[in-house]
Amino acid sequence: MGNEKRDIIIIGSGPAGLTAAIYAARANLKPLVFEGAQPGGQLMITTEVENFPGFKDGIMGPDLMQEMRAQAERFGAEIVTADVTKVELSANKKIVWEDEDAYETKTVIIATGATANLLGLENESRLMGRGVSACATCDGFFFTNKEICVVGGGDSAMEEATFLTRFASKVHIIHRRDQFRASKIMVQKATDNPKINFIMDSIVTDVLGDQTVNGVKLKNKKTNEISELKVEGMFVAIGHTPNTKMFKGQLDMDEKGYIITCSDKTKQTATSVPGVFACGDVQDPHYRQAVTAAGTGCAAALDAEHYIEAME
Ligand code: NAP
Repeated sequence: MGNEKRDIIIIGSGPAGLTAAIYAARANLKPLVFEGAQPGGQLMITTEVENFPGFKDGIMGPDLMQEMRAQAERFGAEIVTADVTKVELSANKKIVWEDEDAYETKTVIIATGATANLLGLENESRLMGRGVSACATCDGFFFTNKEICVVGGGDSAMEEATFLTRFASKVHIIHRRDQFRASKIMVQKATDNPKINFIMDSIVTDVLGDQTVNGVKLKNKKTNEISELKVEGMFVAIGHTPNTKMFKGQLDMDEKGYIITCSDKTKQTATSVPGVFACGDVQDPHYRQAVTAAGTGCAAALDAEHYIEAME
């Protein structure tokens, strides 16, 4: 372990991790940020962000992340473009590894986010941000007066489809079964909405379009019938997976793998291990917004700062 003991190591570089870095750096704690091999989090695959306060004309997702990163560096955050490969987290000892390099630290802030589950189709990733989206609140506005579809049968699909009817002329919900996973009330709300149409027992087998989406190919699972649906947008709402594999067995998590925070009443981002804090989507299955992630990032840095003060 060729490194001196750190005050704070931050894992992740979305809005949560970088806001934590800005606050920790300004508190003179010289945070070390492992931004990952693919830095910036989910906003890197978003086009225009119109709901982040302070940007009245909107800002491109990657530009917003670049600004946050530069702001953290300006105050002295040290940023490493590499993935953390292993952690050892206990009340008395915290070690973070990047391959062979081990870093001991007084506190760890986990901001590794969550990844939207996708269908796994080649054209789905090619057209991501150009008609394909995994975030209705981020991108709904771009589909004003357009016909679109939402894939999924859970609460997110119902909520997003209902929200999208504010903009879209028609929203087709495509679900792979004939029963919904979503709660009755959410299904009822969608059913009552005249702009929503349901396509059941069907899966999307391809996303069509050259530069932007102009349709999806469907297969009915009961009849095997293949059809095409003309839509200009496809929202994938089939759940998220928190990026917590590395912490399994070391931190308390819920059944879906989200880190449980708030184990200390005075520190809302505290995890089950003293001195380890979590912020952003990795601990939030509900709001999942850049601004809420940034808010909890700030809280995690303040919680870590107070923890270090109490230690000393
Ligand atoms: P979810 O409940 O896990 O539902 C995912 C849906 O996507 C299911 O209908 C599933 O189909 C479908 N799906 C999964 N993989 C698929 C694939 N490869 N191809 C096609 N369809 C696929 O996820 P969620 O809707 O994101 O909700 C997550 C949690 O947040 C839930 O606990 C939910 O209640 C909560 N939530 C609550 C609210 C609210 O109360 N306002 C809003 C949003 C979310 P199957 O049903 O066939 O498995």
